[in-house]
Amino acid sequence: MACVVVRYHEIALKGGNRPRFVARLVSNLRAATAGLGVTRAQSLPGRIVLWLADGAAVDEIRARVATTFGVANFSCGVPTSLDVEAMCAAAVSAARGAAMRSFAIATRRADKAFPLTSPQVNARVGEAVREATGARVDLDHPELTIAIEILPRAAFVSAGKIPGPGGLPVSISGKVTCLLSGGIDSPVAAHRLMQRGCRVGFVHFHGGPYTDRASRDKARELVAHLTRWQLRSELWVVPFGDIQAEIVARVPRSHRVVLYRRMMLRIAAELGMRGGARALVTGESLGQVASQTLENMEVIAAATPMLVLRPLIGMDKAEIIAQAERIGTFATSILPDQDCCSLFVPPHPTTHATAAEVAAAEALLDVATVVRRGVDAAERETFVYPPLAAARPVRESA
Ligand code: ATP
Ligand code: MG
Repeated sequence: MACVVVRYHEIALKGGNRPRFVARLVSNLRAATAGLGVTRAQSLPGRIVLWLADGAAVDEIRARVATTFGVANFSCGVPTSLDVEAMCAAAVSAARGAAMRSFAIATRRADKAFPLTSPQVNARVGEAVREATGARVDLDHPELTIAIEILPRAAFVSAGKIPGPGGLPVSISGKVTCLLSGGIDSPVAAHRLMQRGCRVGFVHFHGGPYTDRASRDKARELVAHLTRWQLRSELWVVPFGDIQAEIVARVPRSHRVVLYRRMMLRIAAELGMRGGARALVTGESLGQVASQTLENMEVIAAATPMLVLRPLIGMDKAEIIAQAERIGTFATSILPDQDCCSLFVPPHPTTHATAAEVAAAEALLDVATVVRRGVDAAERETFVYPPLAAARPVRESA
């Protein structure tokens, strides 16, 4: 029976966190590979082994493990008995299956009772592979590394380490709500928080009825894509055009953008709290645009007592774009749309709003009613990965 040996970074795991981390990673791996022929996800010292049934969808299992946060790296392999000859046979078979000219054997003993030391196993197995394949041993730059993991009751022989996404298993850090605009930055911000173990919910504000559906469609497409890393996502879609029109009608031009943002944060906080979120997430990066100065970020965030996380705050646009390309959101983010924030934007938005100015401007509005209207008009959609064939996302009202 074949298996996938999944490894996580142990250094970061201290004391009581470790069992929780491992249990969450096991259950996330089970969920990610459901229906693909994994018969068991077993936690063994220092690694997790996924046991595969005959005919398991190995390529798809690999793809799913590669998007499971918490996985440092993994390899496909086979279990053997605690017998060095059995390990040699499995290593030779793995080496024959891989066209390679140089290799290394990397043995780790979780069970120190095994009679041979790791270097002794490396030497024995290396010799067997060299004889069988004619390939040479290269400890510095091997074309193939064959890992042997010796555990108390079995050994695992696997070839070729595939990198995982690292980070912490999704859900272990709790829930957050990301303000997702459809631009380049906020999907990257959401991905960064997932990588730190958050389950991310999404809120998108669109300019309807004054804009077309493009921004909504982009937000949906982005959430569908990001769901690959957390298997299930919720997106609240909030019509914001009328709220903006009201702000425009009452508030001095220069402070409109700051007020849009404060309303967005309040509505997102309300929707997020219903789902148990402990923080909001934005794609802000210091100094990138007028609303992202220290002064403006301070007065914008003061609209809500909820913690506001800005994982991209110190990143350059070029770095953010590179990450958007790596995670596959860039192409969708640059599709043309009419962002609601570009609606009714004054030529010179303020870059240094003060709390007093904002309070004076908001005194011209009935803030609680505006927030309530936004929350009541929000529609929720649920996304799952893999997407249900031909199914439309489930849509509900708040
Ligand atoms: P992005 O690339 O994420 O659109 P941006 O560089 O365009 O960011 P802003 O337009 O100032 O920056 O928006 C800052 C943040 O505010 C966004 O990253 C996002 O988190 C939030 N935001 C802006 N517009 C919307 C929207 N229409 N719906 C939801 N969140 C939004
Ligand atoms: Mg934007």
